[in-house]
Amino acid sequence: MTSASPTAFSALPLSPATLANLEQLGYTAMTPIQAAALPPALLGKDLIAQAKTGSGKTAAFALALLANLNPRRFAVQALVLCPTRELADQVSTEVRRLARAADNVKVVVLCGGVPLRGQLASLEHGAHIVVGTPGRVMDHLGRGSLRLDALNTLVLDEADRMLDMGFFDDIATVARQCPAARQTLLFSATYPEGIAQLSARFMREPVTVKVEAQH
Ligand code: ADP
Ligand code: MG
Repeated sequence: MTSASPTAFSALPLSPATLANLEQLGYTAMTPIQAAALPPALLGKDLIAQAKTGSGKTAAFALALLANLNPRRFAVQALVLCPTRELADQVSTEVRRLARAADNVKVVVLCGGVPLRGQLASLEHGAHIVVGTPGRVMDHLGRGSLRLDALNTLVLDEADRMLDMGFFDDIATVARQCPAARQTLLFSATYPEGIAQLSARFMREPVTVKVEAQH
């Protein structure tokens, strides 16, 4: 066996099952943002990660939240906030593929424009990971159908787009309902002023990683 290259997933503290699953998915090497984000994220640090679309940001936060997850605990342990239903669906697909290494990890998507009934039934049944849009997640928190007291990872995906869409207050409300002792991971393609505000209010000494666009 040759020594691990710095972009090999095997250089990370991941389980053998996770490494085997990544290989099965054809993920032979980390993308630059994964190589920058995963080491601090897997140490449990709060993280602000900036990289362009298509750079593999989903797996960067998904592997971190899965590392924090205990599948035998039937409670929501990770929440990923996304700007749109389409993005939430894409993220949930990628999280489910990466979660195949663990037993029976349940991912529930909570987005607006979809009847509440199915979402309520899914939550009732038990979820480990919730992926959703801020408005609908707030709706479930208000109804008491979603509880975040066992949460250990909060992800703000496409944070710049969520801010563009006017979700600052909703994100703040959701973040205030999460336990203080949690890991917060913020992903964004750009770094507008609102990100610094979110970070100052809801993150703890975040590590910032940035991958410049390749020309
Ligand atoms: P972003 O969120 O940065 O826009 P995505 O997380 O959606 O990017 O990833 C873009 C595509 O790259 C997806 O199809 C994903 O499955 C694939 N991908 C991510 N990481 C890797 C990797 N390490 N090796 C190969 N493909 C990858
Ligand atoms: Mg993305």
